Order: sequence, then structure tokens, then C-alpha cells
Amino acid sequence: MKMRGSIFVLTGAGISAESGIPVFQGTSWRGHSHYELANIEAWEKDPTLVWEYYSDRRVSARCAKPNAAHVALASWSTEAGDGRLFLCTQNVDGLHEAAGSEDVVHIHGKLFESRCAADCGRPPFIDYNGYAPGELPHCACGALVRPNVCWFGEQPYQLDRIYDALEECDTLIAIGTSGSVQPVASFVTMLKQKPQPARTVFLGLTEPANALYFDEVHLGPAAELVPGLLRSWMKKK
Ligand SMILES: [Zn+2]
Repeated sequence: MKMRGSIFVLTGAGISAESGIPVFQGTSWRGHSHYELANIEAWEKDPTLVWEYYSDRRVSARCAKPNAAHVALASWSTEAGDGRLFLCTQNVDGLHEAAGSEDVVHIHGKLFESRCAADCGRPPFIDYNGYAPGELPHCACGALVRPNVCWFGEQPYQLDRIYDALEECDTLIAIGTSGSVQPVASFVTMLKQKPQPARTVFLGLTEPANALYFDEVHLGPAAELVPGLLRSWMKKK
């Protein structure tokens, strides 16, 4: 495959799992499933519990380091040139940025940012803090401050920008995505239905639920597969 046109890179939990950040599927936190806590209903019912959960996630994510897949994507983006590579991640950790990627589109928000739960107009801000029970953070407007992440039951972030990039791209590379979370799982089907269908490539440890929409499925650790694939493409460019 030649590297022409623009490339949409989509990364999911699989790429961060190799840096020690647990995936949602099949793991839990103090007996609660992640789906139960990363949820607008959980926040409305028990913000203390949700902040305890996110405080814990911040602590463990702070220790995580980007792996070879994150690093390869960052250097590939620089070599490919301006605007060629659109990097969209479902992961809320900052591992792409830690590896040197710029302008990463976080469809599910950022773990190390917080914002006003009442959307009073204060922009999201960087926040590495953990909050103990009874010390819930408040905005100057009086409302609670919440993690700046997209929960189940909420609209994902930056969808206009994402759909524009999907419209323009001619290649999709999905890395470590489960293929089961919407709307992200539908990106690949959308690309196959374009008048000029995009080429679609999957890399990751386990086959995604939407595997049949990919032209190529490469199974293995992202930290091994991604640098190798990108090297071979760069040679062909
Ligand atoms: Zn506010």
C-alpha cells in the first residue's frame, strides 16, 4: 500500500492496555463494572463514588508510560507531514501526547482534565488531583466540578471534526479497538460505504467485533505490530 491521501488513525483501549492501563471489558473496580461508573446516571446518583473511581484511575494512569506503538505513531505523524494523519483516540489517558503526538482528538475526553458540571462557561482545565470522599471539588459558580470525559449516555466530543476527517480520508488504521462501542464502531462501515471506499486496516491483540469490515486484520501486540507496519509503509512512500 502506498501512503497517499490522508490517513485516519483510531486508537482504542488495546494500545493503552500494553502500557498497563486496564481495559473496561472483563475488569472491574471495587466490584463495580467500569460501564456502571463511567456513566452519567452514576454521576447523578453518586458523584462521590464516581470521583473516587476517577481519582483512582488518575493515580494509576499517572504511572503509565507510552509504548512503542504510541511512539511510532508520533514519529510517523511528523514524517507524513502536515494534516496527513488524523489521530483520534477513544482513550482518556494522555499517552499519545506523552509520546509526542500533537493535536490528538479525544472523542471520549481527557482523564487529566476537569470541567464545570453545569457548563457555566468556564473552559475545561488540567487537573491531576484525586479527591477524597467529602472533598468534592466545586466550580466558582457553585456547581460540582466533574472529570472532562464522555460518559455512557452522553454525546462524544468533537464529532463534527471527526466526521469531516472520515469524509476526507482514504485509509483507516484502527489500533486496539473493540469494534463494539458506538459511534466509533460504525466508522469503518461508513468508510466502506463511501463512493470511493477507504482502505481499512486493523492492528491489535484480539479480533474486533466488526472485523469483517477490515481489508486487513493483523493480530498481535500493538507495540510490536505498529512500528513494523509504519516502517514498511514509510519505505514504500
Ligand atoms: Zn461553573
